[in-house]
Amino acid sequence: MEKLIEIAYIVASVLFIFGIKMLGSADTARRGNQISAVGMLIAVVATLLYKEVLEFTWIVGGLAIGTAVGAIWAKRVQMTGMPELVALFNGFGGLGSLLVGWAEFEFHKQTDLVTQSAIFFAILIGGVTFTGSLIAYLKLSGKMSGSPTLFAGQKAINALLFAALLVLGGLYIFQGTAWALYAVIGLSLVLGVLGVLPIGGGDMPVIIAFLNSFSGLAASAAGFVILNNVLIVAGCLVGASGIILTVIMCKAMNRTLGNVLFGGFGAATGKSGAAVEGEMKALSVEDAFYVLEAAENVVFVPGYGMAVAQAQHAVKELGQILEKNGAEVRYAIHPVAGRMPGHMNVLLAEADVPYEQLCEMDAVNPTMASVDVAIVIGANDVVNPAAAEDPTSPIYGMPIINVHEARTVFALKRGQGAGFSGLVNTLFFRENCRMIYGDAKETITALAAQFKD
Ligand code: NDP
Repeated sequence: MEKLIEIAYIVASVLFIFGIKMLGSADTARRGNQISAVGMLIAVVATLLYKEVLEFTWIVGGLAIGTAVGAIWAKRVQMTGMPELVALFNGFGGLGSLLVGWAEFEFHKQTDLVTQSAIFFAILIGGVTFTGSLIAYLKLSGKMSGSPTLFAGQKAINALLFAALLVLGGLYIFQGTAWALYAVIGLSLVLGVLGVLPIGGGDMPVIIAFLNSFSGLAASAAGFVILNNVLIVAGCLVGASGIILTVIMCKAMNRTLGNVLFGGFGAATGKSGAAVEGEMKALSVEDAFYVLEAAENVVFVPGYGMAVAQAQHAVKELGQILEKNGAEVRYAIHPVAGRMPGHMNVLLAEADVPYEQLCEMDAVNPTMASVDVAIVIGANDVVNPAAAEDPTSPIYGMPIINVHEARTVFALKRGQGAGFSGLVNTLFFRENCRMIYGDAKETITALAAQFKD
């Protein structure tokens, strides 16, 4: 039976790897997800066959409660609430690893050096991931301020805390000191809170990817604790893919990881951006229609507001109408648009926007000057020219989609609300920019209706 279980684990691991590979393209992503889920089912069933599993009462109870909570939550969550949910998932993954490490300690008290090291890492990384993710959840869901919380001596306190954790870890690993491990549990939870508090604003995408990576590493450490191969492999896959995503996100924000973790977005530099001159000019849907009707080259730039308005289907319909009218239509995707990695790709794929019409930032920017109309749908930070032009802006250096270079820009938003970073967007004051106020879905639907009349 042991051999059979190990073979099942290898099959599951291979399915995970294929599944992750398939997530790399929108065409195969759904299938990739299903293949990974089958891998997970095989891994779970194989684990239940272990002879160490003596009774199923707790397992079935946990399964029932977990399934019920998960199913209800998944049904109720709005697309805009996904990032917070992902943050919570990461956090509970971390808590699970912490509990595995702690339980193993309570069962055996003293084991070998390798297992004690694994217990320490599972608890340390799991604890930091758990509370760090809870703070990320609270920030993303607006239950606490999304901006960085900074106080004097913060970095020194965090460094001291980390040093204390290493010393306590050493005491437990090499001398088996029980109280030291309990202190590690408490302090790792504190470090998670203090570590994520100073991160905020536009840096949140990076920290979500980073915590995701941490939850994988914690799971992997838990796998070493209970010598479970599939947990080690799955944890490593999550850890590695999370760190790759973190690097991609850092590049997209033109930041280093160190700067994100210790910089305090906007707050640490004291930068707030230069004062903006000019005024925002509103345009009616009817007038916008005349401009659009004559346009030969149109680029849609979706942002978080498109997710809020659930405007993706309406946007696709308007895109088709414009194409029929003879225009070339593209969709420019910024890597951190929305509130989670790939947020815009997911929404546009859901509306069946042809994959070839999606353009990445680097591909679309060199062509922007030849675009007749750039339609910004609830995007704000990712099209803020201050990032390219104003060295005093906190987002200076972050690559943006250069819609300000297009002949005309339509900015669709409900009012004068700021984006996630809370900064004023100089785009809206430009000569070539017109504001079309209102819910993005209603505006797009009204524009499409003008073509039909
Ligand atoms: P922003 O958050 O900068 O701006 C969104 C805009 O949408 C707001 O200005 C708002 O203006 C408008 N809006 C909201 N609801 C509607 C609606 N129903 N109809 C029309 N407009 C609406 O979005 P971006 O996508 O430009 O930028 C993403 C930001 O989020 C970046 O700062 C990024 O760093 C951050 N972030 C990204 C994550 C990721 O992984 N992608 C994760 C966490 C943060 P108004 O209120 O006036 O309508």
